[in-house]
Amino acid sequence: MKTIGLIGGMSWESTVTYYQIINEYVKEKLGGLHSAKILLYSVDFAEIEDCQSKGEWQKSADILGAAAKNLEKAGADFIVICTNTMHKVAPQIQNMISIPILHIADATADVLIRSHISAVALLGTKYTMTQDFYKERLIKKGISVLIPEECDIETINHIIYDELCLGIISDKSRVQYQEIIKKMKLKGAQGVILGCTEIGLLIKQKDSVLPVFDTTQIHGQEAAKKAIY
Ligand code: GLU
Repeated sequence: MKTIGLIGGMSWESTVTYYQIINEYVKEKLGGLHSAKILLYSVDFAEIEDCQSKGEWQKSADILGAAAKNLEKAGADFIVICTNTMHKVAPQIQNMISIPILHIADATADVLIRSHISAVALLGTKYTMTQDFYKERLIKKGISVLIPEECDIETINHIIYDELCLGIISDKSRVQYQEIIKKMKLKGAQGVILGCTEIGLLIKQKDSVLPVFDTTQIHGQEAAKKAIY
């Protein structure tokens, strides 16, 4: 079995989910007392968020790159960055290590293709929704990406940073997400990417009028699969 190197803490609320999903997958596939070999480097999210809001992306790449190097040194076979947003600096992190990064957008695109989804709504942080680093990986694989209108981007982003990353799960916010997903369906989306690793804490398949593609589930399962096959 390969050793998975997780870079987590962004936020730790969703890193917990990664740990669970990976171990559940390994247990289901291997049975018995099997569990995943995992190294976790959990950063201080306040430092990372400070870089994001100041636009200091290279500084955040240096912090996460140092974490990745430590995981490599400790024996990780590959790296999993437990956040969509920080894949913005995945190329810089990759340049600092010689083991591969399992990219969250590529894993998600592959599942969308297998599900015959050609137009998808993307919900995530404002960085993930409005910048190109994430969308371009989906578009390259032939998937068109729809993003919400400006006021909805603000709402989604605010709920991520001011509630979900702090462990606050609110019914009112769930309804707001549900309304936005309904609008995205009207715009032609065939599915919705929960493109922030905390959204799955708020929105489950039963809450959505569109098929849900939860990046935490997809990425975690892909990591477990890569570790055992
Ligand atoms: N976990 C979130 C994501 O998947 C947001 C936190 C962050 O900015 O890294 O994008």
